[in-house]
Amino acid sequence: MTSLEISHISVAFGKKVILDDLSFSLPEGNIAALLGPSGCGKTTLLRTIAGLVQPTAGTIRFGKQLVGLSSLVLPAHKRNIGYVPQEGALFPHLSVAKNISFGLNRSTHSKDQIRQITKEMLALIGMQGYEERMPGQLSGGQQTRVALARALAIKPSIVLLDEPFSALDAQLRTDIRSEVIALLRTQNTTAILVTHDREEALVSADVVALMRGGKIIQRGTPQEVYSEPISPQIAVSTGDALVLDASQDAAGSTHFLLSATVNTGIDVRQGKIVIRPEEIKIFPGLDNAQVNGTVEKIDYYGHDAVLTIGIADKSIQVRIPSPIDFNLGEKVSLAHSGPIRFYQNV
Ligand code: ATP
Repeated sequence: MTSLEISHISVAFGKKVILDDLSFSLPEGNIAALLGPSGCGKTTLLRTIAGLVQPTAGTIRFGKQLVGLSSLVLPAHKRNIGYVPQEGALFPHLSVAKNISFGLNRSTHSKDQIRQITKEMLALIGMQGYEERMPGQLSGGQQTRVALARALAIKPSIVLLDEPFSALDAQLRTDIRSEVIALLRTQNTTAILVTHDREEALVSADVVALMRGGKIIQRGTPQEVYSEPISPQIAVSTGDALVLDASQDAAGSTHFLLSATVNTGIDVRQGKIVIRPEEIKIFPGLDNAQVNGTVEKIDYYGHDAVLTIGIADKSIQVRIPSPIDFNLGEKVSLAHSGPIRFYQNV
């Protein structure tokens, strides 16, 4: 395994710029999650790292080795990348064993070595005895595991996973994901996981990179990107968030719907505040020292519920854990306890 250093990479298809002066680095053995909306360039970034797309500018290094430069490209087959494309994409006409050993070089590996590596990979993914099965005879989760085994069989420098779990249903997705991440960690794999799923990004990665319009606009640990988002939009893409109008006065006090402070000064800045659901506490009954409201709607999800609470002529939605001890129409008071994340309007 190796570290990854991407420096000022640009990629264009025709006149359309897809990656725009993008820089990103990942220490050896770390897993990064790349989170961003459809079309922002995630797959293109993976394909550029893999050597399948040539950048117009910038450099890519694996450890100290320069593998990609706009004018010089180490071909894809020499980059030693383990690539798990969307939905696994196994070769349907090859058995599980042949899929796993597909990337092993026949000129440098004997038949016995190939058999041995395949066996080790099957043991790693817990699928001993499945050698001769065809992909069509496997469940979705098994196909994902085989795709990962195929990627790891070549002892890759870096593993790139492009939404490998998107075809799996919710429960299986969680199970397979934690298995795959655990496997990558036991192998001390340097990996990039592309995902649309914010929880998947937070739970799986050491580093979360938020991508928009061909750039990485924020990177940090899961805790950093969740608790210190650089904008309200990023806040929403990393977890549930209440985004409220806010203002700041000359003394620096912030005023918003849930602040119990009285705004006596003149506001000098207008903007938004971002509040995470767990930073709002709801109490039964009215309290003159707090902000008061009425429960207007309860959407019950079992482990938690989203309460819509009317406050004066506005309403906010707050997710609270079960058991839910509130009723429709009930008067409640609310308190905000968390950091003031104020974003001035530009
Ligand atoms: P998704 O989450 O939907 O997979 P993404 O973030 O991975 O999206 P990319 O697949 O990298 O996005 O595509 C980014 C943009 O580049 C899209 O507008 C896409 O249409 C365009 N694009 C991708 N590959 C090519 C290509 N070979 N030629 C021209 N345009 C391309």
